[in-house]
Amino acid sequence: MAVYKIVEIGDEILKEKAKPVKTVNASINKLLNNLADTLYCAKGAGLAAPQIGVSKRVVVVDIGEGLHELINPEIISSSGQETDLEGCLSVPGIIGDVTRAAIVKIRYMDRHSKGKILTAGGMLARAVQHEIDHLEGILFVDRAVNIRKMKQKEK
Ligand code: ZN
Repeated sequence: MAVYKIVEIGDEILKEKAKPVKTVNASINKLLNNLADTLYCAKGAGLAAPQIGVSKRVVVVDIGEGLHELINPEIISSSGQETDLEGCLSVPGIIGDVTRAAIVKIRYMDRHSKGKILTAGGMLARAVQHEIDHLEGILFVDRAVNIRKMKQKEK
């Protein structure tokens, strides 16, 4: 188990476009493990590799329904629109309202190098889009309106 310190807003790595994974090898699988360990420790819904200081296109998402490990995730189609509250482990104590696609279809590679498709709606669609934004160097505060400090009860 390896829990990493989460990089916070102001660090340049969060503004960089992360590099695609060429080969899914043992070090990528280790990165997936470290991301999951760090995500669960921080009690978040998703975590992208740049958030632990690794500029690679790897993310993990778990909205409480099981872990999704996504390598080189790409949105191939999207539909609808929904606005909801978001926060980010890299922007502690801040929330805002973000409008995103309601349903997304994602193409990605799993930890065995297998190409896969995930169709997501609701919270999962939101979390996946938030994490893919991290790979593009975009933070939710770049998209959010009504940005505010989190009240104790919203934690
Ligand atoms: Zn985030």
